[in-house]
Formats: sequence, C-alpha cells, structure tokens
Amino acid sequence: MNEEYTEKHRRLSLDDRFKFSCHKGLTCFNTCCNDINIFLTPYDVLRMRRGAGLSSGEFLKRYTIALLGDEGLPLVVLKMMEDEDKSCPFVMPDGCGIYQDRPWSCRMYPIFPASPKEEGFLIEEKPSCLGFKEGKQWTIEEWKRDQGINIYDKMNESYKEVTLHDYFEKGNKLDSGRAKMLYNACYDMDEFKRFIFETRFFDIYDVENGVIEKIKEDEEELLSFGYGWIRFNLFSEDTLKLKDKTLDRLLQSKRGKD
Ligand code: SF4
Ligand code: SF4
Repeated sequence: MNEEYTEKHRRLSLDDRFKFSCHKGLTCFNTCCNDINIFLTPYDVLRMRRGAGLSSGEFLKRYTIALLGDEGLPLVVLKMMEDEDKSCPFVMPDGCGIYQDRPWSCRMYPIFPASPKEEGFLIEEKPSCLGFKEGKQWTIEEWKRDQGINIYDKMNESYKEVTLHDYFEKGNKLDSGRAKMLYNACYDMDEFKRFIFETRFFDIYDVENGVIEKIKEDEEELLSFGYGWIRFNLFSEDTLKLKDKTLDRLLQSKRGKD
C-alpha cells in the first residue's frame, strides 16, 4: 500500500470505534452520490436490478459500464448521469432511490477493506462529510450489522473464490469467450438462466432435481450455482459433475484423437 494512501486513511482494528451518522438534515446530504467510481459486484447487480425492477440485461445496459481487468476479468462500474454533477442515477431528493438494495460500497462507507485479500479496514474522515461530526459510535461489526452487509460479504466471498483464484496468480488470462461466459453467469443472470434452462445443460451436467428447483426460483442460489459452474469450467474444480454419458462421449472423442 502506498504512503499517500495510508496518510489519508486511518486503520481501524476490530475493536476501534468511529463516530458517524448520515441523515437528511445534514447540509452535505446527497452531495457524495455524485461523480464517483463504484465497482459493482455480481451481488450488487442482482440486488440493484431487483430494486429497480429491471431484467439483468436492461439494468446492465442502462446503468453500467463494462470494462476488462488485467486478467481478462469483466468489471462492472455504475454509470453516472451526464448532468453537470455527474450524479448517481439513483439519487433522489430524499436520498438513495434503491436504499434497500444499494451496493456494497455505499453500505460500507465510510469504512472499506485495506485490500481485497486482507482482513483490515481503513476509514477516511473527509472534512466535507459532516457525518463524522455527530452521531453514534460504531465498531466495524456493529456498522456492518446495521447496514445489512453480511449477506453481501457472504456472496462476495464466493465471487472472490473466482477472481482471486490461483489460476490468475499464475499469470493466466481469460480470453474473450471465457470473459463473456463469466460476465453472463455473474452479472447477466437472466441470460445465464436462459442458457441453463433453454439448452441441453441438464443433459450434460448431473444436477440434482432439488438444486434445479432452487435455482429456478431463487436468484441467490442461481448466482452461487453460476460461481460453481465457472470454477468447474475455468479451474477444473469438482464444483459440478458431468453425466456419465457426457463423460463417455468425452473419453471416446479423446481416444479418437490419440
Ligand atoms: S454525511 Fe457523509 S455520507 Fe452522508 S450525505 Fe453527508 S457526505 Fe454523504
Ligand atoms: S446507489 Fe444510492 S447510495 Fe449509492 S451512490 Fe447511488 S444514490 Fe448514493
């Protein structure tokens, strides 16, 4: 971590307390929902599009910008409006228009992890943010509980098992086909759902009926299933099983090539 970064931010231990309260009565209210880079995790997109009442494809098209990271990993950023302030498209006079489904980083503010791989947390006490001048004191755990972050952390941990995988540590990169596969399974979940339910997917993969029923009805389950499918295909982990007849076909085709 560079020095400038640590100078601006204070490291918090799990027992440290910080004072913070954000509410409509403050003169700074809503001013921080402008001109910001918010990287969205797959679970952020799931919740935000649910809150906005849109399909995944429509949400991604209207409100996000897709980028590619160094490893060929898709990155999704919330698109700010083209007004003078570059406002978040969800900011309303009364606050966040999708408050119940706002993204992880908006919930976490003013704390954030020191790095994706580390346990520690940092806080940046910006003078322009009046929330530090009043209100209750919190530990990190209390803040996370209050902001409903635990389900986000749980879902994001599963995503990290993909993005922080050894496969990338070893210098591997995704080609465009695999990046698209990951993007659909993680972000464009309606497309992924069509792919698994409207193709011969379940003729190829051995998936229990109970799991099929769950992923049909429950988007969190579908996202977790998508992570397993990615890990099976990209990293050859045993997170899914092929049907015996698929394995036979693969073996026969391998023998034909030998
Ligand atoms: S208190 Fe801080 S987080 Fe809340 S509106 Fe003001 S600047 Fe934003
Ligand atoms: S999603 Fe909500 S909380 Fe986050 S920047 Fe936009 S309006 Fe603000």
